[in-house]
Amino acid sequence: MKSEGDAKIIWQKTCEEYLKPEISALAFQTWFEPIEPFLDEDKRFILYVPNDLTKEFVSKYIPLIENALRLATSNSFEVLVEEKSAQQLQAMKEAVGPDIFNASTDLAKVPNFKPTPVRESKLNPAYTFDSFVVGPSNRFAHAACVAVASMHGSKNYNPLFLYGGSGLGKTHLMQAIGNHVNSEYKDKKVRYVQSEQFVNEFIQVIANKKYDAFRQKYRQVDLLLIDDIQFIEGKEQMQEEFFHTFNSLLEAGRNIVLTCDKPPQSLTTLEDRLRTRISSGLTIDINPPDYETRMAILARLAQTHGLIITDDVLDYIAANVTSNIRELEGAFKTLYAYSLLGNPINLENARNALKDIVTPAARRQIDSNYIMNVCANYFDVTIADLKSKKRNQVITDARHVAMYLCYNLIDMTYTDIGEDFGNRNHATVIHACNKIENDISKKPEIDRAIKEISLRLDA
Ligand code: ADP
Ligand code: MG
Repeated sequence: MKSEGDAKIIWQKTCEEYLKPEISALAFQTWFEPIEPFLDEDKRFILYVPNDLTKEFVSKYIPLIENALRLATSNSFEVLVEEKSAQQLQAMKEAVGPDIFNASTDLAKVPNFKPTPVRESKLNPAYTFDSFVVGPSNRFAHAACVAVASMHGSKNYNPLFLYGGSGLGKTHLMQAIGNHVNSEYKDKKVRYVQSEQFVNEFIQVIANKKYDAFRQKYRQVDLLLIDDIQFIEGKEQMQEEFFHTFNSLLEAGRNIVLTCDKPPQSLTTLEDRLRTRISSGLTIDINPPDYETRMAILARLAQTHGLIITDDVLDYIAANVTSNIRELEGAFKTLYAYSLLGNPINLENARNALKDIVTPAARRQIDSNYIMNVCANYFDVTIADLKSKKRNQVITDARHVAMYLCYNLIDMTYTDIGEDFGNRNHATVIHACNKIENDISKKPEIDRAIKEISLRLDA
């Protein structure tokens, strides 16, 4: 246990290293900065907040906070969120003495504080198949996870290796398997572990020579879920142990699911035999969600939070927060916080609230690529479609609108535009621009597209 003791120091570290990266800047400022942390005798971490609203908001983050505290301290704390006014807080500080809040006391000196080994990672009950939105980017991964979760004939998927960038739903899917098996097959033993914890535990095992307990723990399960396996890279002894765990589970017909931030072949320091083992199962990637999936996720979040958000706002978020579902949720939560504070959710407020999250288009270099990107998103076609010779109505409209905006917003020449749009003749571009100029007053859908896309471009 590290000696940097008191609640405040732990809290600061936890915030800086683990919470801030997960929460939007605005949400952090609004809800987390006013928090006064307190560590009580039963190792409960109490977060005092100034009002009801903050309590409601911060409480939603308890699993995240507990996890962050665990990562920051290698210790488990139960987290409580309690409301206390500034005066009450002051009175309390006077009663218990300031040390417990501020002084750099060693944690071990806090009454009854005993460092404990890392607690089991718990499954987050919110991570279910029901709450997982399926789209083209994750359909295959979802199907494989459902197959493993139903525990029938999943031999072909063993081990199942899911990989993809951060915030794309790997942990959610993996835990959904665990939650499903726990509720449907009560006799099955499920163990979920983050590989960082797995590695830490193993280091303790080596130190204490308690191999048997460790082996029992990980080999006598029906389903072993190891999250973020990339942490095992470069750790030879751990890999050796893991290899045997792996074999013993596979031989006994137990299921193993692994997640990773990269494909197995990119785990460069992974032992070959382990890599071979992994590739004998099923390897699936999860990709960033497409526009429709992002819209569906947002719509779902709005629904579960009882928030009515108009389509243009959902559209604004979905069009601008594109690469990562965690960020998409962050954007939504910020907006939710905004609405709890009594602000109406309209496009203008959304843009304001999400300034920190959405890369401001104004600061972004607007070029033909960016315009094509936003137009393609708006019309739900691809950039390749815009550059192609395809002539269906939606693609033609999207292409013409994009050309028109390139000409009017960034002063490109007809010739340059033609070149960027699949080497077209400048006369074709002139025709497109004239056509849109005409359509704006005649076709409401074109008028709306130009307005909406300009707004998204912040132009
Ligand atoms: P990863 O483990 O890949 O970094 P997570 O599983 O932690 O990502 O997902 C980040 C957040 O996004 C979680 O809150 C998760 O519930 C949510 N999420 C990810 N994918 C989906 C999805 N398809 N539908 C609904 N929520 C999702
Ligand atoms: Mg994860």
